[in-house]
Amino acid sequence: MSIERTLSIIKPDGVRKKIIDEINKRFEDAGLAIVNAKMMQLSKSDAEGFYAIHKDRSFFNDLVAYMTSGLVMVQILEGENAIQLNRRIMGATNPEEAADGTIRSDFASSIEENVVHGSDGLETAKTEIEYFFG
Ligand code: ADP
Ligand code: MG
Repeated sequence: MSIERTLSIIKPDGVRKKIIDEINKRFEDAGLAIVNAKMMQLSKSDAEGFYAIHKDRSFFNDLVAYMTSGLVMVQILEGENAIQLNRRIMGATNPEEAADGTIRSDFASSIEENVVHGSDGLETAKTEIEYFFG
């Protein structure tokens, strides 16, 4: 175990649902510190670049439209085992598969509109933090 940093995004549906504070309380109660944060409107190229790994997936254009549909809250979370811990607090990508009490189980409306993003590994965390805060 070690102190890690991970990139979190509260996606446009999370901002629209007015649950930024609720989500951040869950992070902080679990021991994650919010060490940087900015609210922003992603451009099409911001979203395409961020999700470039998914560019050949059938849902890519929808995903970019969704991610640019309103403001997002982009944050760096820091703490012990932060990457996996954040993934656990978020729950599975598909809210129907997300464990009870997770953010996606409680608030997501579909596999696409699933409220939060979290880096999935050490390398992606580094790249994603650099992408928004570099
Ligand atoms: P995660 O966000 O859990 O890491 P992925 O990296 O697989 O999930 O996907 C990135 C995002 O793309 C998801 O959070 C979701 O918004 C969207 N997405 C993933 N799979 C689908 C799908 N089958 N249909 C529509 N949107 C999807
Ligand atoms: Mg992912």
